[in-house]
Amino acid sequence: MLPADLHTHTEFSWDTTTGDMEGSCARAVELGLPAIAFTEHTDFISWTVDPAVLPERLTKHMADETHLVPPPLDVEGYLAAIERCRDKYPALKIISGVELGEPHWFAGETAALLAAAPFERVIGSLHSLTVDGRYRLVEDEYLLRPVPEVLRDYFAETIRLIETCPSFEALTHLDYPLRYTPAGYTFAAVDFEEELRAVLRSLAGTGRALEVNTRRTVEPLLLRWWREEGGRAVSFGSDAHRPDLVAAGFADAAALAESFGFGPGRHPWDHWLA
Ligand SMILES: [Zn+2]
Ligand SMILES: [Zn+2]
Repeated sequence: MLPADLHTHTEFSWDTTTGDMEGSCARAVELGLPAIAFTEHTDFISWTVDPAVLPERLTKHMADETHLVPPPLDVEGYLAAIERCRDKYPALKIISGVELGEPHWFAGETAALLAAAPFERVIGSLHSLTVDGRYRLVEDEYLLRPVPEVLRDYFAETIRLIETCPSFEALTHLDYPLRYTPAGYTFAAVDFEEELRAVLRSLAGTGRALEVNTRRTVEPLLLRWWREEGGRAVSFGSDAHRPDLVAAGFADAAALAESFGFGPGRHPWDHWLA
C-alpha cells in the first residue's frame, strides 16, 4: 500500500487553475491511497516580482505593476468542499489542512488563521527570501544572483522558519529552490552538506517531521543526513496541483524511506517513523 499523500492542492489554492478536490479524491481511491490531505496555500505576503517572468496563470493576482499579492484562502468554502468529499468518498480518509508560506514572518495572521478553523494537517514552507526589505520569490532571485548564494540564503532562512515558528508539524519541500535552478546549473547535495545538515539538525531538534516531497526526484543524501542528524519522522507529499499527480513517485519514495529505516506508524496517515 502506498503512504498517505499529506500535501496536495485543489481549486482552493490560489496558484492553481487545474486543482480539483473531487478529482483528487477519485484519483486517490483509484490508487488505493489510505488518505489524502488537502493542504491549501495560505500566503500573507506581497511579493515584489518581475512581471515579465511571472507565469501567466498568476498575473490576475498582481496588485500593481510589481506586486503579486495572493488572495486569502476561502476557509468556509474549503471546509464545505471537504465535507462534500467526505460524504462522496466515505472509504477515503480526507484530511483538512494548510500549507503555511513563510509563517515566521506573519505570526499574527498565522495564529488567526489557525484559530479560525480546525485544520488537521499543517505544513510549513518557504518560497521566498527577503532582499533589501522586499519579499522576493526564490526563483526570481536566480535572475539577479549566483545560484549557490541563493541556495545558501534559502537554507539559512529555513532555519529561521523552523526556529521561530512552532505552528507546523512537517517541513515541506526543502528542495523547493532546486525546482527553478537555471538551465546549465547542476546541483550536488554534497556541495551544501554543511548547510543542509544544519537545517535538518534544527528540524530534528524540534521533533518535527521532514516531508519527502516527490515533485522532484527525492535526494537520497537528504534522508541519510536526516537520520544522522536525529530525524525520526517523515511524511510523503506529492505537492500535486491537479488530480493526476496525486501520489506521483510515491512507490519509489516509500522504498527509499524504508531503506533508511523509516516505516508506517500506527495509522496509515501517521508520519512514518524510524
Ligand atoms: Zn510550497
Ligand atoms: Zn504545496
